[in-house]
Amino acid sequence: MNRHAGDARDGDSSESDHVGQHAHPQPLAHHPLGGDPFTTLATMRLPVGTRTLLGMSDGFFSLETVPRFLGTPDNPTALHDDLVASGISPARMPIGCFLWPGEKNVLIDAGYGPRIGGSGAMIGGQLPAHLRHFGFSFDDIDVVALSHLHADHTGWIADQHGEPLFRNAQVVLGRADWDYFVVSDRLKASAAHVRQALVTMAEQGRVTLVDEDVTIAPGVRLVGGPGHTPGHSLYVLEADGDRAILFGDAIYCPAQLTDTDWAASSDVDPVAAKRTREAYLRELDQNGGLAVGCHFPGLRAGRVLSGAWQSERGQQ
Ligand SMILES: [Zn+2]
Repeated sequence: MNRHAGDARDGDSSESDHVGQHAHPQPLAHHPLGGDPFTTLATMRLPVGTRTLLGMSDGFFSLETVPRFLGTPDNPTALHDDLVASGISPARMPIGCFLWPGEKNVLIDAGYGPRIGGSGAMIGGQLPAHLRHFGFSFDDIDVVALSHLHADHTGWIADQHGEPLFRNAQVVLGRADWDYFVVSDRLKASAAHVRQALVTMAEQGRVTLVDEDVTIAPGVRLVGGPGHTPGHSLYVLEADGDRAILFGDAIYCPAQLTDTDWAASSDVDPVAAKRTREAYLRELDQNGGLAVGCHFPGLRAGRVLSGAWQSERGQQ
């Protein structure tokens, strides 16, 4: 059963979210919901040429709470049914963030933030501790590159008062997501503080909106992958002829690379999302290279070999 997948509360955090109650996350060992190596405690180091991609989980999302999260057009509860049959409980997915340290320190995705959502179904709060573990603080981040604007990828953009938390960073994202979520105000009320911070940063000239594939920092290329959201972006990290692809939520779980019919209920445009999955499956099959999604179990990377996914590298 390899169909561990994503986070349904994407952009769907309930009004009862407790923003800021966990502004100072407790040490993981004392965390009320505990930590486990596949979610809250998941970290990884992935060599890319002579550089190293760091991965870390801000927290987790409990899959069994959302019966219709991931499935096929014929069976929208397919994932849930599989989980129930497998006896896996609780089935949790990490909330992945990635750091590409270098001349410019680039953080790809910003977690769920210091809060609990969906009555405990989603919990963040661990990004600062993981960054510290790797020797970084928020002030060291030069670029925050967002795959998209759902709540579990933007949580640490702002404190509960709407003040930007990355004081020295430029935020980069696909323009279509800005138009869809910020201009059209489709972020949930519980993410109003994130919207406020993004608008503030834009007024300060600290938001870069991207329309096409472009290099955003040394060794980091944004490439379009619409479907999950209109301006969803993937990031290609390149060094010394080696590369790794960050899927964001274009692919929630490795199973979707071989079963491209599986779609997340949070996909804004499921048809485009499937097209994006298949395009990157072909691309990886032809060109090789490692890849990992924000919610892959244990944040483990892998590669596509002859149409099959093989989890390969990414040391914990
Ligand atoms: Zn997500």
